[in-house]
Amino acid sequence: MSSAHAVVFMYPLQGHIIPTYKLATNLAAKGVLVTVVCTHGCHARIIKANNGRDPFAQSLMGSNIRSALVSDGLPQEFDRSLNHDEFNNAVLNKMESHVEELMEDLQRKGPPISCIITDTFFVWPDRIAKKFGIPYVSFWTESVMVFSIYYHLDLLVKNGHYPFTSDESELINYIPGAPALKLTDLPSYLQERDISTPEHRIIYEAFQSARGADWIISNTVEELESRTIQELQVQSGIPFCSVGPLFQHHHSKGEVGTSMWVESDCRSWLDTKPKNSVVYVSFGSYAHVSKAQVHEMAMGLLDSKRPFLWVLRPDIVSSDVQDILPEGFMEDSKEQGLVVEWVSQLDVLSHSSVGGFLTHCGWNSIVESLWLGVPMLAFPLLTDQYTNCRLIVDEWGVAMNLGQVSRSSNRMRSMLVVHQEIAVTIAEFMEIDGQEGKRLRSNVGCVREIMKKAVMNGGSSQKNLEGFVDYLKGREQSRSLSFTA
Ligand code: UDP
Repeated sequence: MSSAHAVVFMYPLQGHIIPTYKLATNLAAKGVLVTVVCTHGCHARIIKANNGRDPFAQSLMGSNIRSALVSDGLPQEFDRSLNHDEFNNAVLNKMESHVEELMEDLQRKGPPISCIITDTFFVWPDRIAKKFGIPYVSFWTESVMVFSIYYHLDLLVKNGHYPFTSDESELINYIPGAPALKLTDLPSYLQERDISTPEHRIIYEAFQSARGADWIISNTVEELESRTIQELQVQSGIPFCSVGPLFQHHHSKGEVGTSMWVESDCRSWLDTKPKNSVVYVSFGSYAHVSKAQVHEMAMGLLDSKRPFLWVLRPDIVSSDVQDILPEGFMEDSKEQGLVVEWVSQLDVLSHSSVGGFLTHCGWNSIVESLWLGVPMLAFPLLTDQYTNCRLIVDEWGVAMNLGQVSRSSNRMRSMLVVHQEIAVTIAEFMEIDGQEGKRLRSNVGCVREIMKKAVMNGGSSQKNLEGFVDYLKGREQSRSLSFTA
């Protein structure tokens, strides 16, 4: 019997590559033949960051899986971080023709392609699937609440909330399956008045394309977002299957990771710190932060008097801005903290000395923190992070909010969270045995339990993945039967 063959396209950003890689290997482990496609640009960066080792090498990926490369339409060495708009424009307008060429090549070489699995943010899956006469599966790497908001953009328009209105006191109480949201809970792109940017076009076109998907797979856990998922299934009529959490704990297994920056090994530094004492700080892989905010954060961390491990990407302000820390900070903080460019986040979060995670609220970071039982201090910066912040602070009670005081006196996107507030909030957050600390830890424990159950045999994520694989295999079987008939 011929095996189902899925071609899996990764969105060329770190936060998308990590869960997509894991989805691809999980599918391969269940007997699906997978071709996983990365862009030349990301692939080159991953190999460089991994000292020449390639996580996409055939010898590492196993027998059911192989990799292919595609162009995102930009030269390999182009600085995508410095030019987000050009990068987004390329993915929006130039990548599709390269995808089409690759698909033709894969089709020619065989085995026949059963379906494509593409990140929801690509704008072309419907067209490519139609051209090749195959189904397409949309893979969503963020919270389902965010999916639902984008999916119901028409409701925001109808209610006069998109483009963004200035009356921040209004509530959005009409997104099916979602709680009443403040305008400031929306993804950042929906809080902007100028909706002519490449990001806005990507969101609009990608969600038009997703409407025709045959399946939607998401990196969440069904029990955590069940109402939103149920409503989406009803509204869209598309099977919605949650298979999270998806991440690759490569160090613990000796695998090669997919990091695009060189990872510092901080374990020996962490070993010297007492249990639950360290606050881990990271703003993820994509967002930029102003130099002024970096300075406030630096002073706030110092003044909190808590040990800290701070990931500061070299491009955090911009890849053409150096010396971003306040003068004398490294010297003043050398007993208290460690600043690095990138780490194996799962290694850090699983270390017993880490007691809390000051996070930008990227979805992967949230999922990883919960999986490893670490409460969060929410510091959203961009895109889905505001909505995720709402989920983890108000809905699940697993995080405290950082910046409420500063935000209440500033329009949120232009605000600066000042160091006094940062220091006080971190100190309170890291009071592990305080009332708030106990509440957060207990709630994190409950969510963690739900996640662990979901991936066990018979758990929802396992069952959902198996259901999807059965669909693929069943489709392939009836296709080969119809060929032989
Ligand atoms: N990450 C990492 N090392 C770091 C910082 C982040 O490995 O020093 C990983 C993190 O584990 C997560 C991803 O990068 O899987 C970031 O994704 P997330 O959705 O949290 O944020 P984004 O980068 O998409 O904004």
